[in-house]
Amino acid sequence: MILILQPNVDMRGGEYRRLMEALGALPNVQARVHHVSGAEQTLTEVYLIGDTSSLAVEEMQALPCIERVVRVSKVYRVIGRHVDDRRPSSFEYNGVTFSQDSLTLFAGLCAVDTREHVEAMLKALQEQGLNCTRMGAYKPRTNPYSFQGHGRQCLPYVFELAGRYGIRVVAMEILHEAHIEEIDEALAQAGRPTGVMLQIGTRNTQNFELLKSVGRQQDYPVLLKRGFGITLEESLSAAEYVASEGNQRIVFCLRGMKTNMGDPHRNLVDFAHVPVVKRLTHMPVCIDPSHSVGTREATPDGILDVQHATAQGVIAGANMILVDFHPDPAKALVDGPQALRLEELPNFIEDIRIVREAYERRVGLARSV
Ligand code: PEP
Ligand code: MN
Repeated sequence: MILILQPNVDMRGGEYRRLMEALGALPNVQARVHHVSGAEQTLTEVYLIGDTSSLAVEEMQALPCIERVVRVSKVYRVIGRHVDDRRPSSFEYNGVTFSQDSLTLFAGLCAVDTREHVEAMLKALQEQGLNCTRMGAYKPRTNPYSFQGHGRQCLPYVFELAGRYGIRVVAMEILHEAHIEEIDEALAQAGRPTGVMLQIGTRNTQNFELLKSVGRQQDYPVLLKRGFGITLEESLSAAEYVASEGNQRIVFCLRGMKTNMGDPHRNLVDFAHVPVVKRLTHMPVCIDPSHSVGTREATPDGILDVQHATAQGVIAGANMILVDFHPDPAKALVDGPQALRLEELPNFIEDIRIVREAYERRVGLARSV
């Protein structure tokens, strides 16, 4: 059960104390308090966990400070959509809004290799009016002898350049709790010129301790990738781990499933699940066409498979696109074969615009009946 408290409730006031006392007296029920800070107000929600089936909604509604009571019926208590659930499906971070209605492009390097490549990438983004990117510093590699990413050593110039080129949010994968600290220190030292969205990669979707770590902190939003060999329900439960620890600023990313049924693509594109995730949860949904498709192959009509996959996600209502570009793909240290070239960026953006417009017209059509 979720108790949504009146906005800007005074946590030191008598009413709040009486509420907590009443909740503390409920047998076999534990109360977890979450704060959601918005631009204008702070919302406080109390999650009641345990034996809540005997609690009456009306009884809870009568307690002090309560605005609304939502009875949760599913496994995704925090991230899920429930009956009478009017909680927002959006959040703001560093001036960028992430919502189930918006669309934001994160084009960038799979892995940071040189300062020059980072700068060329960011400059190209700025020229196109984009303010988000992806930059991998910590790389999870299948082979221990492969390049593992430059790690903390590249963070100072990545953040400095991001700030210089007007980047508001950098999606950056972390593999360990210590990486959050490293990112935070580097951002602080650079004077916080940009923001970071902590990416949990497909190999770590069920690294529960890492999920709890990104869930416990509230400074950075989380981009959680779907596990490539587990069910959608299992991956959504991973998102619930993050949210249940207190951080609800999560974007869920589809990135293809590992099966040779997807051949000749690197993974089987799973973007038909964009609407499913939006229906089941409040999370904005990202698509990663690069790691899904994995090649630069094109169809006879001249459109790249990566663009076709992107279009499939966008026409289904995707809210974010994570895509690999590189100034010189042949020199990329990770995933060069799937990277698009900087000259292809304007075309890529225009293609997305066309498809997004078609999606918006589809929404208008659906709402008109
Ligand atoms: C990545 O985005 O760089 C990445 C490694 O993706 P995934 O975790 O989906 O394989
Ligand atoms: Mn990659």
